[in-house]
Amino acid sequence: MSDFDDLLQANRAFADTFDLGGFDGKAHAGIALVTCMDSRIDPLRMLGLTAGDAKIFRNPGGRVTPQALEALVLGVHLLKVNRVLIVPHTRCAVATNTEAELREKVGASAGIDASWQPFPVVADQVAALGEDVQKVRSHPLVPDSVEVGGFLYDVDTGLLGQQY
Ligand SMILES: [Zn+2]
Repeated sequence: MSDFDDLLQANRAFADTFDLGGFDGKAHAGIALVTCMDSRIDPLRMLGLTAGDAKIFRNPGGRVTPQALEALVLGVHLLKVNRVLIVPHTRCAVATNTEAELREKVGASAGIDASWQPFPVVADQVAALGEDVQKVRSHPLVPDSVEVGGFLYDVDTGLLGQQY
């Protein structure tokens, strides 16, 4: 018995009709996406993609961190990526709270001090997106042939708005 029984049961049903066996793991649509962990974002479906089409890297805020750059460089050189979308979203917790506010909320939930925990927040979401797009475009291992775009996803309409 496990706390994960419901999910394991769903997984067995998934495996009954599993058809991705033997798949090579490349991004068959040539897409890589960096976006937020937010559960309102359905990254494949919002772009009309399906399993096998894209490499997806998620973190709070959809930021281009050093780990995101590692993923994108691997995607571009080994996994067939030729277009990169950076996609933060409206009403994101890391863009609507200060770090102090997040530490306070987490501390209240945890019942212990959380003031030591870093929570990288964004004061100007569009400006931060511009910096993130530039980090990818200017990376020495991302060739100019790779298209890099910055988009803001509206969690209330489902629309992507291109900013960069
Ligand atoms: Zn978010």
